Amino acid sequence: MGAEDARPAVLLNPLEGEPTDADSHIGGPLLWPIDDPWPVCSVDGEPFVGAVQLYQRDFPELPFPSGTDVVQVLLCALDHDAGGPDVRLVWRDSSSVVELIEEEPDPSEVEERYVPTINVFEPIRYAEHPDKVSGGTKIGGWTPWYDSGPFVFSCPECGSVQHQTLSLATHEPSGDDVEWEFGDEGNLNVFLCEKDVRHPIKVHID
Ligand SMILES: [Zn+2]
Ligand SMILES: [Zn+2]
Repeated sequence: MGAEDARPAVLLNPLEGEPTDADSHIGGPLLWPIDDPWPVCSVDGEPFVGAVQLYQRDFPELPFPSGTDVVQVLLCALDHDAGGPDVRLVWRDSSSVVELIEEEPDPSEVEERYVPTINVFEPIRYAEHPDKVSGGTKIGGWTPWYDSGPFVFSCPECGSVQHQTLSLATHEPSGDDVEWEFGDEGNLNVFLCEKDVRHPIKVHID
């Protein structure tokens, strides 16, 4: 296995904590401006729930579009046709947020298995080889194919390759699981267009 097969990866290594909207986290409050409508699922009408927030100062490895410094991952925490929650990514300029939303809306119904505990991160940076793929929650690296694949996905908007960017895990290497479960104790992988991360994302649960 040559060095060209190594991909930079960041194991997020979640630990239960009490983050604020100014922190990177899983399951904590999002930095959400009062004048930005909260996303609502077009299929079932439920509001999305904040799942992950990652600041550029903590995770410069993420492909932040210029003028943004925080990415927010929201889930519609019900099952959808693809067999998991719907996923929405919001890339935001934190310095543009002046007044915060008073309260994040509560869905009337959620699948409990898509609702995580509240966690901060103790990230571990490493180079990941395709024959030693971590199944933990991580940025970058290789896709942990458990039941399918490997697949190559292309952007439905421009045809460019979509890169493995974020993986949310049922089980963490530390043993401190955040208590969500994707598929059959698998991972929810988010692939982003290499040309423009705001093009439609690909979510693959494996
Ligand atoms: Zn939905
Ligand atoms: Zn694209």
